[in-house]
Amino acid sequence: MVPLAGAAVQAAVPVHRQQSMILVPKATPGVRIVRDMLTYGYDDAPVGHPEIVYENVRVPAENILLGEGRGFEIAQGRLGPGRIHHCMRLIGCAQRALELMCQRAVSRTAFGKPLADQGSVREDIAHSFCEIAQARLLTLQAADRMDREGNKIARDLIAAAKIVVPSMAARVIDRAIQIHGAAGVSQDTFLARAYVYARFIRIGDGPDQVHLAALGKEVIKRGGVMTGRVSVSW
Ligand SMILES: Cc1cc2nc3c(=O)[nH]c(=O)nc-3n(C[C@H](O)[C@H](O)[C@H](O)COP(=O)(O)OP(=O)(O)OC[C@H]3O[C@@H](n4cnc5c(N)ncnc54)[C@H](O)[C@@H]3O)c2cc1C
Repeated sequence: MVPLAGAAVQAAVPVHRQQSMILVPKATPGVRIVRDMLTYGYDDAPVGHPEIVYENVRVPAENILLGEGRGFEIAQGRLGPGRIHHCMRLIGCAQRALELMCQRAVSRTAFGKPLADQGSVREDIAHSFCEIAQARLLTLQAADRMDREGNKIARDLIAAAKIVVPSMAARVIDRAIQIHGAAGVSQDTFLARAYVYARFIRIGDGPDQVHLAALGKEVIKRGGVMTGRVSVSW
């Protein structure tokens, strides 16, 4: 286990250098795994997220990863690629939801005609198509910038994708659930589970508000100009 430990270090140390990551073997005295946590009732075991209590746990100082005060740096190094990976998976979920919506629209007749003939269903499908295409291009642009110019330069695009994609996926999946009626909220499609994924990623890897605040601050500082080179080659 690798807890991120914040410590009241000297006031002179910048706030981003006040956290460390320390390896704690599971069998260390004082470590207590209380219970597995559920997300909207779903159990992600064995890769899920338990509640863990650390009581007077002691490990050798050499268990600190990379060096004292470098925990934030490690977290940031992992989180950029981690966030874009979630965006890619969520675009896949949204696309799959859209395809299911289309199948349902032509296969289900209600009130004397296929759902596909209802204007509101066509609008839901068209909005979903547009929103997926927008989010996919943004994510592709962020990933391209990461590849060419590195995670640091790509940070505003990564933040933008992290803000846009989970909400987009949740909206599209929600429409698909509605078009499926009762089946949409049951275990018969992947939609309920996909909705939970899209919803929790608006909190996991940092809540939307924190990304919006950081991005807004950065964009103001740069006078609205994007980080990195402006041209794209795809
Ligand atoms: C399923 C799941 C998996 C997770 N996996 C991991 C993991 O692998 N590793 C890990 O380290 N963490 C993980 N997390 C934790 C996640 O990063 C935190 O839950 C998240 O950062 C929010 O922290 P919090 O729960 O303490 O909420 P709080 O900090 O209490 O925030 C609650 C709410 O307050 C608002 N808020 C908070 N800060 C601000 C702000 N600055 N401005 C405006 N509004 C604000 C937001 O609406 C936010 O949702 C996971 C969470 C979930 C739900």
